Amino acid sequence: MKVVAPSLFSPDIQEQVAKIVAQYERKQAAIIPLLNLAQEQFGYVTPEAEKFVAEYLEVPIVQVREVVSFYTLLRPSPPGKCRIAVCTTTGCALRGADKALEYAKKKLGIKPGETTPDGRFTLESVECLGACEFGPVAQVNDTYMGYLSEQTLDRIFQNVGPDREDWCAEAPVVETPTGEPLISRFFHMKESHKLDTYLQHRGFEAVKKTLGKMNPDDVIDTVKKSNLRGLGGAGFSVGMKWSFVPKETSKPKYLVVNADEGEPGTFKDKYILVKAPHLLIEGMILASYAVGIHKAYLYIRKEYQFPYERLKAAVDEAYAKGYLGKNILGTGFDLDIVIHRGAGAYICGEESALLESLEGKKGLPRLRPPFPAIVGLFGCPTVINNVETLSYLPFIFDRGYEWFAGLGSPKNGGMKLYCVSGRVEQPGVYELPMGTSLRDIIFQYAGGIAEGRKLKAVIPGGISANILTAGEIDVKMDFDSLKAAGTMLGSSGVMVLDDSVCMVKALSYATKFFAHESCGQCSPCREGTGWIHKIVTRILQGKGKPADLDNLLDIAAFMGGNTICAFGDAAAMPVTSYIKKFRAEFEYHIQHKKCDIENADANG
Ligand code: SF4
Repeated sequence: MKVVAPSLFSPDIQEQVAKIVAQYERKQAAIIPLLNLAQEQFGYVTPEAEKFVAEYLEVPIVQVREVVSFYTLLRPSPPGKCRIAVCTTTGCALRGADKALEYAKKKLGIKPGETTPDGRFTLESVECLGACEFGPVAQVNDTYMGYLSEQTLDRIFQNVGPDREDWCAEAPVVETPTGEPLISRFFHMKESHKLDTYLQHRGFEAVKKTLGKMNPDDVIDTVKKSNLRGLGGAGFSVGMKWSFVPKETSKPKYLVVNADEGEPGTFKDKYILVKAPHLLIEGMILASYAVGIHKAYLYIRKEYQFPYERLKAAVDEAYAKGYLGKNILGTGFDLDIVIHRGAGAYICGEESALLESLEGKKGLPRLRPPFPAIVGLFGCPTVINNVETLSYLPFIFDRGYEWFAGLGSPKNGGMKLYCVSGRVEQPGVYELPMGTSLRDIIFQYAGGIAEGRKLKAVIPGGISANILTAGEIDVKMDFDSLKAAGTMLGSSGVMVLDDSVCMVKALSYATKFFAHESCGQCSPCREGTGWIHKIVTRILQGKGKPADLDNLLDIAAFMGGNTICAFGDAAAMPVTSYIKKFRAEFEYHIQHKKCDIENADANG
C-alpha cells in the first residue's frame, strides 16, 4: 500500500491506518473508518484528510466528500470544544427534552447548530440516541448524560461533565414469569462483559456442543424449529433466512451483524453490547458455522461509544483466548470479526443501506431482488442478523429448540427484550416471553403510568409502528398478534403516551424524525416526509387549514408501497394511524388554533 501525505498522521496513526485498511476485502470499505479516525485526530474532517483518504484508498475525492456530506457525525468544520447533542425524538420528548433544550439555548445564548463565540460549546438537537430509558438524554462529546435537567445541564456547562459511562448498570430488574432471565441475566452481573464471567455461566457451551458435532444443515434446521425470528424488526424466520444462502458458491460468504440500533424507542441491543458481548460473539460463531461463513462484520452505530469499547475489548479477549480466529477451540472452524463503526445515519439500519455503508458509500437502500442472501456485501452471499437475534442462539443450542420454542407463543419462539419508554414509572428493558400482553408490560412490569395519570396511547414497536389507543392494549406482543391488530412488533420499542400528551405534538416528533432521516432517493419519500412535517407543524402552531388532514392522509397513502425501501411505508403509517384514531384532537387544533390538551393541563 502506498503511503500518501505521510505528514498528515503521526507514525503510530499511520500504522493504525494500514491495519484498518487491511481488514477489508476492498479498500474503499475503509472510507468511513478512516474519516472517523481523521476526525478523532483533528476534531473534524479537514480538507487534507479528505484528500488523504481519497488518495490512500484510490477513490475519487468526490466520493469521499459525498460520504462526509451524507453522515451527520462526520463534520466538515470544527465544532466547539464540548458538543452537546440533545435528543429531541419521541422517547426523550415525552420526558421533557424540549424543556431541556430550551434551557440549554438560554444558558448558552445559541441555537441548535451554533457554537458559542468563545468556541467552548456547540449545541445540537439530534434524533434518537438509543437511550430513551434515561431520557431526556444528551450526548456530550462521546459520553451520554441521562435524566437531563437544569442541574445536570449546569454540570455540563461548568465542565463537570457526565458522571458515568455505564448507564446500562441502572437497568430495572424484573422478575420474569418463567423465573429465568436469559440475556438479561447478565445485566446486573458483575464483570459480565468479561470472558471469565461468561464462561462461568455456560459461556461457549453451545459452541462446544455444535461445532464439529452437528452438521451445518442440522444447525439451520434446529433454528427453524426453535421459531426464532428476526428480532431487529422484520420478524422473518431466522433459519429460513439462512437457508437462502447458496451452499455451493465460489464466492466468500459473509455474516453482517446489524448493531445500528436507531429506531426511536429502541435501546435493547445496547445492553447486549455493554453487558453480554461474549453472548453475541458466541451467537455469531454459531450462525457462521451454520452457513459456512468465515468472516463477519459487526456494524455498530457511531453514537454507541461505550458499547463499542466494551465490544472491542470482548472481541480482543476472545481472539487472545482462542474463541475467535483460526481453529476455534480446536474445532477446525475459523471466524474473523471486524467491528465497523457507522457515522450517524438512521437509514443504515435498513439492511441494504447498511451494506452500502459498509462498502464505503452513502447509505442508500438497494432495490431488491437480488436479496443479500444471494448478492450482499461486496457482491457476495450475505446473512444479515440483528444483535438480539444472534444472542438467543447460544441458549437454543445449549438447551434445545423445543424448550426455546415453548417459551414463546405459537410461531414466535423464545423470549424478547422489550424496551419501554415514555410516560411510565419505570422505563427500561424487560425480557419477557414472546407474546406477553402489552397491558402487562406497561402495568405489571414498567410500573404503570407515571405520576398517576391515565394511559392515552401506545406505540408498540418503535416510531414506525401504528399507534394503539388505551383500549387496544390487550394484545400479545409478538409478530403475528400485533400484525393482526393492525400494527407491528418492529423493534419492540414500546413508547407510552399519557393523557397529558397532545397527539398533534406527538405526531410532529415522528414527522420531524422521518423528514430528517429520509435518504432522499425516492421522491414520494423525500418530498412526502418534508411536506407532512410542514403541514403537521403548521397545525401544531395554530395555522392549520381545514383541508390539511385529508391532504396528510393523501400524501401518506401515496408514499405507502411506492418507494425503494420500507422507510416510506414506515413514515406514512404514523400519520394515518394518529389522524384516524385521534382525528377530533387534530380538528380541534385546526378550528380553535390552539391545543385543548396542553391548555387543560396548564390550567390544572
Ligand atoms: Fe430512501 Fe425513503 Fe426511498 Fe427508503 S423510501 S430509499 S429512505 S427515499
